[in-house]
Amino acid sequence: MNGLPVRGPALVVLGPGKVALQERSATAPGDGEVLIAPHFVGLCGTDLEIVKGELDPAYVRYPVVLGHEWSGRVLAAGPRVPGLAPGDGVVVEGIRPCQPCPPCRSGRTNLCQDIEQLGFTLRGAASPAITAPWHLVHRIAPEVPLTAAALIEPGAVVLRGLSEIDIAPGAHVLVVGDGTIALLAAHLVRLWSPGAVTMAGLRPAQAGLAKAMGVDHFTTDRPATGPYDVVIEAAGSTTAVADAFQSAGRGGQVLLFGIAGHGRTAALPVDDVVNNDLRIRGSFSYTSAAWAQTVRLLNTGVYRPLPAITHRVRIEEYTHALRLLTDPADGPRGKILIDQTPS
Ligand SMILES: [Zn+2]
Ligand SMILES: [Zn+2]
Repeated sequence: MNGLPVRGPALVVLGPGKVALQERSATAPGDGEVLIAPHFVGLCGTDLEIVKGELDPAYVRYPVVLGHEWSGRVLAAGPRVPGLAPGDGVVVEGIRPCQPCPPCRSGRTNLCQDIEQLGFTLRGAASPAITAPWHLVHRIAPEVPLTAAALIEPGAVVLRGLSEIDIAPGAHVLVVGDGTIALLAAHLVRLWSPGAVTMAGLRPAQAGLAKAMGVDHFTTDRPATGPYDVVIEAAGSTTAVADAFQSAGRGGQVLLFGIAGHGRTAALPVDDVVNNDLRIRGSFSYTSAAWAQTVRLLNTGVYRPLPAITHRVRIEEYTHALRLLTDPADGPRGKILIDQTPS
């Protein structure tokens, strides 16, 4: 095949606190495999936790190439790969379900007992190429920008969590947090026809982004004055979790998305949880089914994450990108994409 092997820089976390660009390469795909050039790679708080060594060690293996939110184009399809051709825009499920374990067999692939995931235990997309089994590769409609497709992964995380709780039409929804997961949650919860969506953010500079993603009311009051029927915690801090409990009304539901750091704990207002008849739900990552549904919603124009993207950097500017994640300065900050389109 022409142009193989592919070589280029990869963003590698060698161990906690140690990040470097190193060359990586990829050769022709094998039987049933697809070789893909990542074009856009989103960075998120989880990447930062991998860099700092704060993620639960059960889910990461160093050294690791970052990049679990991404889109790309097919470079080559190996033998016995149906329906994919070079140049196709694609996304790839990052979790590789083992298939035989009981959770995988019951469709809860996010709980695979032998979990392997791109950007956590397998090479991530901040690299010149990814090789993936064809059944995990999903085609993106030609009219959909690959920048938007890079937000399939966080969209699938959000959709899976929202699908696990009961959101009645007309419900008053509070999203705690103003980062990408919070913005996508405010956008995707519209599928359930809520009465109003409020966002309790940290920075006033996020108000415009929140509005663009469908938030009705943006506030920096913490906790937000409630009560709310559904409270979605997407800030990833223990104070946000405490705020979420305080804002839930009687009979309400609290959905927890944020990762606050391995081993950190939040105080649980036990009496309030009982007296208010609260339902609490955590949601880990996404299932294969949620991924496929998110792709369908993107390809049909229902999932529209583009306004959430605020920054694009080249891979060589990774220190700037990681700094933006830690300290967004004064302006709005949504998704930061590493742009790896061939120049
Ligand atoms: Zn992420
Ligand atoms: Zn499994």
